[in-house]
Amino acid sequence: MSIPKTVPPSTATVPDMDALWMPFTANRQFKAEPRLLVSAEGMHYTTHDGRRVLDGAAGLWCVNAGHGRRRIVEAVAAQVAELDYAPGFQMGHPKAFELASRLIELTGDRMGQVFYTNSGSESVDTALKIAIAYHRARGEGTRTRLIGRERGYHGVGFGGISVGGIGNNRKFFGPLLNGVDHLPHTHDLAHNAFSRGQPAWGAHLADELERIVALHDASTIAAVIVEPVAGSTGVLLPPQGYLQRLREICDKHGILLIFDEVITGFGRLGTPFACDRFDVTPDLITAAKGLTNGTVPMGAVFTRPGIYEAFMQGPEHVIELFHGYTYSGHPLACAAALATLDIYAEEGLLTRGSELAAYWEEAVHGLAGLPHVIDVRNLGLIGAIELAPLPGQPTVRAYRVFNECYRRGVMVRFTGDTIALSPPLIIEKSHIDELVGTLGEVLRDLA
Ligand code: PMP
Repeated sequence: MSIPKTVPPSTATVPDMDALWMPFTANRQFKAEPRLLVSAEGMHYTTHDGRRVLDGAAGLWCVNAGHGRRRIVEAVAAQVAELDYAPGFQMGHPKAFELASRLIELTGDRMGQVFYTNSGSESVDTALKIAIAYHRARGEGTRTRLIGRERGYHGVGFGGISVGGIGNNRKFFGPLLNGVDHLPHTHDLAHNAFSRGQPAWGAHLADELERIVALHDASTIAAVIVEPVAGSTGVLLPPQGYLQRLREICDKHGILLIFDEVITGFGRLGTPFACDRFDVTPDLITAAKGLTNGTVPMGAVFTRPGIYEAFMQGPEHVIELFHGYTYSGHPLACAAALATLDIYAEEGLLTRGSELAAYWEEAVHGLAGLPHVIDVRNLGLIGAIELAPLPGQPTVRAYRVFNECYRRGVMVRFTGDTIALSPPLIIEKSHIDELVGTLGEVLRDLA
């Protein structure tokens, strides 16, 4: 099999762009000033106009082992030649099982089983359905209510936007799921601005769960879902003790706790999962992104020991869970994930965030004091710089910073008025200097 060793230099020009409706994009703005990526290697993208851009976002929080990893390329190429597709319903293939065992091992056996999906959104909807079905399987069919959180992001399925807490993602799409409540978000600059790592203030906000339980009765509530660190709504860190408190209240009332680890899974916080970092074990974990290093779409739902078993009670010939996707456990995704896990293990990437955390923290907090910066946040290899919004024009200032960084060779993300940083975990200190240095220059110049 011949796979080119290096990507040839790009001769790409800007294509006709009318036919594509781009996701979560200001289409007209983009098409007026396109940002096209044509190749990638290590920490860098190459743009259609031949520039190298430092990836400060791991693509979209997913390319944790850096770009262009030969081992993954070769594993996927070999897999497509050997077994291109196998149905996941009533059939299987060995790599799907092998990967599941590896993933469970990675959780330190906190979890017992894995259910495959193709994305974070599908993982979330799968987890919510499993939670409700689990209670029913145990004879508690009244437990159907779901509790999310303000400013939560759980993908774009109807389940995910219902438990999610972002107005723009919800308001255009009708009444959404019934029976959903929201905890308050934990972001409070009055108490926590410029905290390093987890903020000290706010654990008591978890007690709002007691209020919701009192209102509806625990016997109606299936699950609480939160992101241990919320990414898409501006990188919001859990106050010290907050997740522990949520766990305690869920335990007290028999409510399942779901951690949406789509961004925190696979090393982002310097541990394999956020539950390791915070030492809180949820009942279900949703994952995607870093699972295949972003190469082949794949998601997974992890369930704690006992959940799967609750479904394995009836007659053996009856399907236990009426749920799944044509591409659940796709052979290419499994091959990519196995190669990705090998790289993570061999290069120690799942703990690299801990090794670099002090340097990273110093670097990003060096941006405090620059024009319009109203908060800086960090944990593991995540950083956030929150900007004062331009009056009456939310997100415009952050967009300008993002766009100008891109012009100057650094890719960051913006979400609301926050610049989010989540580089590949192979990052070196010199890259950190470049990333934060360019961002600092842009913040100064745009002021
Ligand atoms: N949950 C969380 C916490 C996420 O950050 C994301 C994506 N950013 C999703 C779910 C949805 O994942 P996907 O875009 O793969 O559907």
